[in-house]
Amino acid sequence: MIPPGETIGILGGGQLGRMIAMAAAQLGYRCHIYAPEADSIAAEVSAGFTHAAFDDTQALSRFAEDCAVITYEFENVPVAPLAALANVPLHPAPDALEAAQDRLNEKRFVAQLGGKPAPFAPVDSAESLSAAIAEIGAPGILKTRRDGYDGKGQWRIASAQQAAALDLPAQDLIYEGFVNFFAEFSVILCRGQDGDVRFWETPENVHEGGILARSAVPADARIAALVPQARALASHVAEALGYVGVLTFEFFATEDGAVFNEMAPRVHNSGHWTIEGALTSQFENHVRAICGLPLGDTALAAKRVEMCNLIGDTVNDWRAILSDPANHLHLYGKAAARPGRKMGHVTRLVLE
Ligand code: AMP
Repeated sequence: MIPPGETIGILGGGQLGRMIAMAAAQLGYRCHIYAPEADSIAAEVSAGFTHAAFDDTQALSRFAEDCAVITYEFENVPVAPLAALANVPLHPAPDALEAAQDRLNEKRFVAQLGGKPAPFAPVDSAESLSAAIAEIGAPGILKTRRDGYDGKGQWRIASAQQAAALDLPAQDLIYEGFVNFFAEFSVILCRGQDGDVRFWETPENVHEGGILARSAVPADARIAALVPQARALASHVAEALGYVGVLTFEFFATEDGAVFNEMAPRVHNSGHWTIEGALTSQFENHVRAICGLPLGDTALAAKRVEMCNLIGDTVNDWRAILSDPANHLHLYGKAAARPGRKMGHVTRLVLE
């Protein structure tokens, strides 16, 4: 067990790290952020900051000397340099990062454990793209296998003709059949070092332009009917990885059941509502899990909870948002409100 007072290292310096650090502070821990950007919004609320590249093994081992345990808020950290952290426990283990960093391996891994992803095929040339479309059909979505997030690195493909005219990026890609879903949802779990698994209520998620716009719990009955099968898959994957911490799975809800989209080996935007909307937040339980503490109760704290992301200049509405006392406003402290950038979120609890 890592007792309060010790230092938690966090790889990645964005809003997820910021909210983990704030939950850790509540439990009496110090946090040390390691991030490649100089203006880390997680470092602003933390005791220590290492500003260095993720593959700088010297900086990583100096960072490890200050930490009792290390976690990450960003899953695209390169795995090989993490060997420099060998003397300090790292949760979740790098296997989980590896499983989630490449969309192709991730889908194969989860399918092996019983998950049902959309039909997919690897693409690395115009020929393999046309073969994938011939096999799977169009419409579909072409995605980079690595480093894509918030709809970046994705191209909707309406037809084989449109695909033929595409200027393919020089990266490994994956082509997925377009899923006809009636809703999207996520399963968010936390697994402790003793194997204890807790789920939060399943949110229904609405994406706009590939970016999460809103999450709401509880999800409606049609989604709720798919949750047991989705949770069974999620705990199976968590077990198989010997996972410790918060792990998130995104699904499409279809007439034929839950279709697995992707997993994130970390706290997740669709779980931000848990800060006020659950008895223990995803951030606090992540800290408890990686430090070997007992997990807190994940039950809902209200009848209904809604979380809305503040993307780009919608953040400028903060005054109006605060004028409604039911709103809980979270601003991430980012300097520039660029289009598509997550600047904060608002959570509303419906008590009656
Ligand atoms: P992703 O980055 O894979 O989570 O994709 C972002 C969003 O794009 C998803 O949440 C969906 O709204 C949409 N999307 C991604 N893949 C598919 C698919 N195969 N079929 C339909 N919509 C998709």
